[in-house]
Amino acid sequence: MRLEMCWPGRTAIATLLLLVFSLLEMTVANAADVNGMTYEQAKQRVPQRQIPKFWIGDVAGLPARFEKLTHGKVRTIAVSPGGRPVHLVAYGRAEKLERKANFNSAIGGREPAAYMNKAARKKPVILFIGPVHGAEVEGLTGLVNLIHIMESAEDLRGKNQSELRALGRQCRLLIVPDGNPDGIARFEPRSLCGMELNDLRFWGQGTWSDDTFCGWPQSKRQHPMVGDNTGFLGCYFNDDGINPMHDEFFDPMGPEAPAILKVAKEEGPDLAVSLHSHSNNPAILRPAYVTAEIQQDVRLLAQRCYELLADRGLPYGSVFKAATEGGRNPSSFNLTSAMYHISGTSSFTFECPHGLKEGCQVNFEQILDIQLSLYEAMIQHEIEKKKL
Ligand SMILES: [Zn+2]
Repeated sequence: MRLEMCWPGRTAIATLLLLVFSLLEMTVANAADVNGMTYEQAKQRVPQRQIPKFWIGDVAGLPARFEKLTHGKVRTIAVSPGGRPVHLVAYGRAEKLERKANFNSAIGGREPAAYMNKAARKKPVILFIGPVHGAEVEGLTGLVNLIHIMESAEDLRGKNQSELRALGRQCRLLIVPDGNPDGIARFEPRSLCGMELNDLRFWGQGTWSDDTFCGWPQSKRQHPMVGDNTGFLGCYFNDDGINPMHDEFFDPMGPEAPAILKVAKEEGPDLAVSLHSHSNNPAILRPAYVTAEIQQDVRLLAQRCYELLADRGLPYGSVFKAATEGGRNPSSFNLTSAMYHISGTSSFTFECPHGLKEGCQVNFEQILDIQLSLYEAMIQHEIEKKKL
């Protein structure tokens, strides 16, 4: 009897608890599974942080900064659709070499030196391409610090970097800190450090007109990213909706990628990097559509770079395996591939952690150390090859 009397009460409590739990579950699921965001929501999510002074997350101050350089030679190599300059800052004298053919004709002629006899140069030439994806400002911070180091032997923290400067002086360094200034200007948080993957989705690739994330790789399925179905234009893109990593290199859509490729063509760098960022450990990616020898060279560089990061207690990824192109989803022929095909350079993409809450958790200082360690490994790699 008592049992019978109790059961309806128990059932009601159980039902209520079940309801509460499923509501809680739905809230948790929604929090983890947000598939969109408005611009206002995205702005509100930017944490109140003290971004350190050595961090460079915007292009606004670059022209004034570069006017003051005493050692570096600065020029504007392109103007973005938004009217912003793309800079080239060079250190070290250019060594004149005879050129009889463009790179691919020289290769066809079985004589790479007809394009440029790189072995005849005394110093290696290294090309650094800063963020062509505007939210990936870790490379901008790294390169503006490298410029400061080449000027003063200190980074922007005031830390002595005379060894890195001495290494840099054994090379010709070509630095394009701002590969996509429109995208960088649109990136209002100035850093994703301490933020979440959903913030990266909003600022990185942007939204459709219904505020859902474009996401990766879907954000690459419409290019240029323009039209009625687009919402917030992600920082991947310049103000005309062009992603310089995937410009049409044989019939250019935007000004940034062709300007970068022109520098590569004229300078014939030995080594070139396109600096990007992601949520995981620092990673040197396998360059696609390049020769087996170039892949092997970049593999050796990756080993050297990861060893340096390990020595310094910094995170690092795993060394890629050389491979041929193909399969269901072959690699794209992107800016990194194009740099090889116009100049014969060992070119690669570097992915640095943003310091998101998910994935590889690093702070501002560590991100700068990762960038500078990569540059050091690159310079060492080329100096040693020259000695062989
Ligand atoms: Zn990127």
